[in-house]
Amino acid sequence: MLKHNLGFPRIGKGRELKIACEKYWSNNIDYLTLFNVGKKIRKENWDIQIKSNLDIIPCNDFSFYDHVLDLSILIGVVPESYLIPKFKNIIDLYFSMARGYQDNKFDIKAMEMTKWFNTNYHYIVPEFTKNQKFFLYSKKIFYEIEELKNILNSYDKIKPVLIGPVSYLFLGKEKDTSFNKMDLIDNIVTIYIKIIDILISKNIKWVQLDEPILSLDLSDREKTSIKYAYKKIYKHFHNSDTKILLTSYFDGISDNLNIFNEFYKYIDAIHIDLVEDPNQLDKVLSFIKESKTILSLGIINGRNIWKNLYHNSVKKIEKSISSIGEDRVMIAPNCSLLHVPIDLEDEKYIHYDIKNKMSFAKQKIYELNDLEKIIKGDKNILFNNSSTINFKSNIIYNKEIQKRSYYSKDLKRKNIFSIRQKKQRKIFNLPLFPTTTIGSFPQTKEIRITRNKFIRKQLCKKEYEKKIKKYILDVIKKQENIGLDVLVHGEFERNDMVEFFSEKLNGMLSTNNGWVQSYGSRCVKPPIIYGDISRNKELTVDWICYAQSKTKKLVKGMLTGPVTILKWSFVRDDQSLYKTSYQIAWAIRDEVLSLEKYGIKIIQIDEPALREGLPLKKKNWKSYFDWSIKSFHIASSGVKDETQIHTHMCYSEFNDIIKEISDLDADVITIESSRSNMELLKIFSIFSYPNQIGPGIYDIHSPRIPTEKEIFNLIKKACNFLPKENIWINPDCGLKTRTWNEAVESIKNMVKAAKIARIKLI
Ligand code: GLN
Ligand code: ZN
Repeated sequence: MLKHNLGFPRIGKGRELKIACEKYWSNNIDYLTLFNVGKKIRKENWDIQIKSNLDIIPCNDFSFYDHVLDLSILIGVVPESYLIPKFKNIIDLYFSMARGYQDNKFDIKAMEMTKWFNTNYHYIVPEFTKNQKFFLYSKKIFYEIEELKNILNSYDKIKPVLIGPVSYLFLGKEKDTSFNKMDLIDNIVTIYIKIIDILISKNIKWVQLDEPILSLDLSDREKTSIKYAYKKIYKHFHNSDTKILLTSYFDGISDNLNIFNEFYKYIDAIHIDLVEDPNQLDKVLSFIKESKTILSLGIINGRNIWKNLYHNSVKKIEKSISSIGEDRVMIAPNCSLLHVPIDLEDEKYIHYDIKNKMSFAKQKIYELNDLEKIIKGDKNILFNNSSTINFKSNIIYNKEIQKRSYYSKDLKRKNIFSIRQKKQRKIFNLPLFPTTTIGSFPQTKEIRITRNKFIRKQLCKKEYEKKIKKYILDVIKKQENIGLDVLVHGEFERNDMVEFFSEKLNGMLSTNNGWVQSYGSRCVKPPIIYGDISRNKELTVDWICYAQSKTKKLVKGMLTGPVTILKWSFVRDDQSLYKTSYQIAWAIRDEVLSLEKYGIKIIQIDEPALREGLPLKKKNWKSYFDWSIKSFHIASSGVKDETQIHTHMCYSEFNDIIKEISDLDADVITIESSRSNMELLKIFSIFSYPNQIGPGIYDIHSPRIPTEKEIFNLIKKACNFLPKENIWINPDCGLKTRTWNEAVESIKNMVKAAKIARIKLI
């Protein structure tokens, strides 16, 4: 039974990669220094994996920015606009694809970036042309193999990792509509065969091809492409000593197994994710039983930070061994460890009862070692593991909260929207096309310093509050001067919309050094939901009420919703997700009711992560929506008819989930649709959205200041799809990342456009 790993985090224990890249980008170090940092990180990663007795060690899982971009460079998928003589090193070309490039002669945009399946990691989207050529363009993979060989003194344990050809095509996009990216399958397989040939000539024994799309609902075209690619690859290499490990992850593959019907006997090795889909084991075992295929069991959770429950894993290992024999079984984490922090030993301040149940990347690798020992007969490890995991600490469990974590039928607003709307109209007296913003205003360096000083106790609470209040007062005055109808307090006290709440709620904590790569040099530190969630003091009331006390206009209270808090954290795995979600929702409900009690009439509950939380397979959407919508109802439904609930979601593709969005029954929803010039609103000609909606009238992601005229035209266009009296006018997301000048000038134009619309569009 071999132990292996799919990939290790590459940011370095002290985020060395981030620091070095940023220094390189600002010309503070040269490329050799940068390369040496990369080399040092790789060495540290390999040392951990070698020391822990892994039998096969991944290689080429390191990346200076993104592993999808690495592959694009490896096989020459570089759009023409980046091929300028200026870039003497491939690394400069590489970074310009990731980040764009600007000097007095050139102005090249960065390539598109998007989320890696249902994770928070973002990759650079490859762009293909109709006659896309694939050829060997970089040698990174080969250098890294030599580096690891120098440490191990042999190639035997080295397993280079590559995204497989079909997932790679799938993740990319066509430059124009004259072809389908799957047309390129034949050419791309040829280059893969060439690469694998080189690896074999070097005596490499294992090659890992990642095909995460195997866990999706696939079209016939995609299925045919997988069939074509792997038939060719496996037939080509079947008689060599090198084994090709085909990995799937993020969900199960039982629905797609028939793709391999014709040639399943050729498959060397296949990896399945038993964390996300433990039930697929039986089906996969019986599928490969008559072949010689090796089965890699993905049993350690690479997406969360809890210790593995050995008892469960051992059952799966034993079942597999008894079905296909020990030499055909491998064990590993379910996916790359990219999605978890590196080393738990660096966390000094986590309560022992919780820390004892946790495991980061380094610890997870050692868990494989433990599992092997258990299989060989060490029952002590098994016993200790279950007693640690099952230990019911009272800092984790709270009987009262457990009793409350439910959803009952009546958790809906008291009256339907049309009745609420009438009542709210009477009190609010807002004009047609009311204007507002999404919540945050520019976060200047000065604001960040103020917050950091307070955290480091260099600023006392009183001084800190005085400063924040000054920012709030200032932003209230600014909004009044601009003439906005519904104001916000600006969110100056928040570093991040989830972290802020995690620090205040019981049952959540934030780590010291638990960094995870989000994209390139950007890392995030997801909070940890370790126990029953509750709120024992008000979270936002002080700031919002202060803002409201300074103006006669309405101030909108600003909260993060339960699904977003859940999705952007590491979540406890000892109870169902829905239960944790309901607990957070109840805590948010408490805060909503406090805000209402103190006179706040409009409350926004942001749910930007609702869509990205969608399961990969459509058949699982229904149950996801069931608990996520109920969570929103718990959070929002306690208020009077007269209190207006807003929600905000910063994505634009809502066509396929519009029904569920309307089920949330928020009085007002603000969404992103400016980038598509309101085209996305077409769905509303088919589906009549019953409540009020702010389509997001300009794009805050760009520094560009939109003109009054273009905003007016968009309002006019929006009126074609939505009833006028239900339209709100707002930017498409928070203004946190903009400069003050950009924010103020843009909103001024927005308000002017709304005023003109009130005259011209009635
Ligand atoms: N209220 C938040 C803000 O304005 C919303 C952020 C988001 O949608 N991601 O920053
Ligand atoms: Zn947003």
